[in-house]
Order: sequence, then structure tokens, then C-alpha cells
Amino acid sequence: MKILIAEDDLVSRRFISKVMSKYGECDLVVDGLEAIDAYMMAIKDEEPYDLICLDIMMPKVDGVKVLKTIRELEQQNKVEPEKHVKIIMTTALGDTDVVQTAFDYQCDAYASKPIDIQKLIEVLRKLKLID
Ligand SMILES: [Mg+2]
Repeated sequence: MKILIAEDDLVSRRFISKVMSKYGECDLVVDGLEAIDAYMMAIKDEEPYDLICLDIMMPKVDGVKVLKTIRELEQQNKVEPEKHVKIIMTTALGDTDVVQTAFDYQCDAYASKPIDIQKLIEVLRKLKLID
């Protein structure tokens, strides 16, 4: 599978990519603007991402805005719901309001940092990204 990891913190980015690289090819970006660029580039190349791990607190464009933008683009491009990219929000914030907003904008799951690998794998199974 093709995975995009958007995370501004180096340590978290390294950790998430180390875990996720077992399951697919990972692209790494460091802010929300790059995340949107990478998403659009993949669409243009007709090699869309299967999964995006999206940090909420990021420079330039925050994760919730990136999520909202991607869902809007999917709607504009008439992507069938079952083909929508799976998006897992990640954050160290215990901010339930922000997490609720992310679910309102149709993220698929939420993982709090530090990431619990076992829980993350369960989420991947639940989203049918792995067996
Ligand atoms: Mg961050």
C-alpha cells in the first residue's frame, strides 16, 4: 500500500515511518501544505495514497484543515466513498474537541502520541488496510 506520513516532529516522523514501512511504501512530509501537495501529486500521477497518517498540530496548514481539504477534493472529483483515502489523525493533544472536529470531517481513526504500535496495527486491521 501507499502511505503518506505528515508529521512535523522529527522523532515522531521517524518512529511512525519505521512502523509503517513494514506495511507499505511511505512518503514523508513535514507540514500541512506539503501534505496537500503530496496528495494532489499522487492523484495526478494516478497513484493515490491508501493511507495518510496526519498530525493535527503542524506548521502552515494544520492537520484538520488538510483533512477537510482532502475530503472536499474527493467530493469535487467524485471519488466513490469506498475509494476515499483512509486518514488516521495523530496528536499528542488530549483535546477532545479537535478530535471530534476531525471525525466530523470524516477522518477514519485517531491515534494519540506516543503511538502505541499494537493499537495502530489494530486500527490498520479495522480499516482493512492489512489482514
Ligand atoms: Mg506536530
